Amino acid sequence: MSKVQATKRQLHDIRGVLWEKGWWMVKKEQRERFNLYIKAHAKFGRTKQVLVAIEELAELQKELLKNINREKCNRDMVAEEIADVQIMLEQLSLMYGIEEVEMAGRIEKKMERLRLIVECEHETYS
Ligand SMILES: [Mg+2]
Repeated sequence: MSKVQATKRQLHDIRGVLWEKGWWMVKKEQRERFNLYIKAHAKFGRTKQVLVAIEELAELQKELLKNINREKCNRDMVAEEIADVQIMLEQLSLMYGIEEVEMAGRIEKKMERLRLIVECEHETYS
């Protein structure tokens, strides 16, 4: 399969996920973001977008390290990188066909685990 065919297939998959989700039920601003993500995916391709996501995660790590390790007052940069990461996480969810319902279930399980750890004096992360 050529790169163009692969990209067309991936776009078809993304649109399929959105269609199953009920495109007409998605809020207007979210629809506009998804349209932009689809255009970015078509223009740069899946691999590039995944690499951008990894890059944005690294940029957030860097700002957090500066803040903690070097005691920099970089609140605005941390906020900037959180925004970048949130945008890329949304794109990753779309690219991998991970729907909000699935994410909500996973987050709920992890929050329950965190609740147990926080509320039990002897539990720690491991
Ligand atoms: Mg960034």
